[in-house]
Amino acid sequence: MASPDRISQTLTRHKLRHTPVRRAVLQVLSASPFALSGHEVEQQLSGDLDRITLYRTLKTFEESGLIHRVIDTTDTVRYAACTMECTAHGHFDDHVHFKCTTCQHIYCLNQVAIPAVTLPANFQAQTRDYLLAGVCEDCQR
Ligand SMILES: [Zn+2]
Ligand SMILES: [Zn+2]
Repeated sequence: MASPDRISQTLTRHKLRHTPVRRAVLQVLSASPFALSGHEVEQQLSGDLDRITLYRTLKTFEESGLIHRVIDTTDTVRYAACTMECTAHGHFDDHVHFKCTTCQHIYCLNQVAIPAVTLPANFQAQTRDYLLAGVCEDCQR
């Protein structure tokens, strides 16, 4: 779980103003072991946060490199906190995502890099999504 200090440091490093909403949203995403949809973030936040502010905050965080999108085979967009190295200029955590077919959670496997792929000439990749599905650690117990 990210400490309040880590949350402040992350906002400062990304040159974002510290607002209560930003702190709360980043805290929720940093503390979650799996990616969360906007709706799930909303559910975890207590109080009367308006949805527009929440989605604007998620957009700002994504553009600034604090969080990244986690894509799966459904239409639900989920977000996960980035590792420290990400900036507005690029997401450097090119890691594998893992969807558990039992609990339906999607985990960032930060320690597992996406394997290098050699593309045909004249193809230029702009995004990298690598999703594995199976049974997570918790569900195997
Ligand atoms: Zn699971
Ligand atoms: Zn991830």
